[in-house]
Amino acid sequence: MNATQQVRDLLRIHDLRLVGRIGADHLFVDGCDICPKPAVMLTETITLEGRGATHEGGIYCLGHGTAAVDLLMWQVMDEITVTVPAELVASYGALAA
Ligand SMILES: [Zn+2]
Repeated sequence: MNATQQVRDLLRIHDLRLVGRIGADHLFVDGCDICPKPAVMLTETITLEGRGATHEGGIYCLGHGTAAVDLLMWQVMDEITVTVPAELVASYGALAA
């Protein structure tokens, strides 16, 4: 299973615009944008416009990240990249197995 498939399964969002990546642990040293929990998800939305692309990013805990991605799916954008630590996908895989 590739990272995109793993992240789509984790979020239960099977949208072709969603691209999943596995990121190194040091990317997740900051806290969630919304609450004090440690962050486990980085999002970057890309909206292609006439003269270029707009990039917007966020860093979230699992709960807020899932909610944020859900919301972003309803917006006008062309691609969303969701980066999670390998540990998160591994623990989810173990739970699902
Ligand atoms: Zn949070």
